Amino acid sequence: MSEYLWNTKKAILFSYLASRLEIWAYEKGYLLTRGWAKRTQTIQKEIYGEMRPTLHEWCRAQDYTLFIINSEGRYVWIKDGNHPAWKKIADKAEELGLKSGRKWDDINHVELG
Ligand SMILES: [Zn+2]
Repeated sequence: MSEYLWNTKKAILFSYLASRLEIWAYEKGYLLTRGWAKRTQTIQKEIYGEMRPTLHEWCRAQDYTLFIINSEGRYVWIKDGNHPAWKKIADKAEELGLKSGRKWDDINHVELG
């Protein structure tokens, strides 16, 4: 199997697992929007000032923004990575076989290695 085909199969599996995570989160009231997905090395260099490997380059990573509807019916953007909802989302991602970015202080990131 070529590396391209191998990665394509992984990217498809990642999309499937990330979708399952998003559906689970939605049903729990953890409202996710998709942020960074595809990110090239050119963009990596702009962000970090150097080439830096990332599974975003191979369509096998996704960053999210999290909202929760509060008791007044308002959407609240959960920016604090220590919020319990982020922990539950990371736990679920790992249960599904994804890796959470929480290990490197990037809790809104999931990927498939
Ligand atoms: Zn990311």
